[in-house]
Amino acid sequence: MRLAILLLPCLLSAQVVRTADPIKRGMKLTDIPRTVKVAENVYTYEDYHSGAEKFTTTNMFVVTNDGVFLADAQGSPEQTQGLVDAIHKITPKPIKVVIIASDHGDHTGGNSVLPPGITYYIHPNSKAILEGQARGWKPPADIKLVSDKETIHLGGVEFQVLFLGRAHTGGDLSVYLPKQKILFLSETYLNRVFPAMRSAYPSEWLKALDRAEKIDANLYIAGHGFTEDAAVSKEELHEYHKALKYVIDEATRLYQAGVPVDQAVKQANWGEYGSWTLAGSQGPIAVRKVYEELSGKLH
Ligand SMILES: [Zn+2]
Repeated sequence: MRLAILLLPCLLSAQVVRTADPIKRGMKLTDIPRTVKVAENVYTYEDYHSGAEKFTTTNMFVVTNDGVFLADAQGSPEQTQGLVDAIHKITPKPIKVVIIASDHGDHTGGNSVLPPGITYYIHPNSKAILEGQARGWKPPADIKLVSDKETIHLGGVEFQVLFLGRAHTGGDLSVYLPKQKILFLSETYLNRVFPAMRSAYPSEWLKALDRAEKIDANLYIAGHGFTEDAAVSKEELHEYHKALKYVIDEATRLYQAGVPVDQAVKQANWGEYGSWTLAGSQGPIAVRKVYEELSGKLH
């Protein structure tokens, strides 16, 4: 009896099905959106990415004495309003700081509903991307730039906003909470979602993950896919790193064999990663992006 009780937490953790697919994980579709408390005053918020394949877009928020710190938001005004409402179920305090960790529309497309009085932070590359787009959210004129590292104190909590290198968007920011040892990696880390490379820098993304894995965190939070417990989050960050390397190596093998890109997208063998969410749509995009980098066309 005693043994059974002691084993229970391990068993629960081992039973988590490692997938970005809510159904395969044993959840109901209506379990999302949801707020997950990961530490005292630290939460993630997950809502579905738009599209046929169901997986989550994941944000992090931290409640402090002086207001709420938010990293990323959702893809539409309705969904980001859901995020704001979820925050205000936890605290009446206003949102004071927002980090644009990913500039992509699925993380910024609902920003128009965020209330006034927020200080925004962004990497210069992402600012240029958002300003250059015909549609979508535009950064405010007083947005603050983070090129390398910026330490922010809000309500007695320290946040380190980090640029670990160009990865999924080119302006990828991460947020490290040194006291809580939590690292929110946004789209530098896709939990069981196939490496999505439409706007990526493949070899630099690997280096960004090298840096991420060296940061002393207990919990690593992905920008897509579920919030995991600490041990699983660390293993899955490493697994994602391996997946990215595998995909780059496979595309590189085809490139070096002289296989034309239109053939390579059909010949690529993704092994175990072929079952990951978005493999069907993102596999060919990844091959083309790696070919672009190897042929010197990616700057
Ligand atoms: Zn995204």
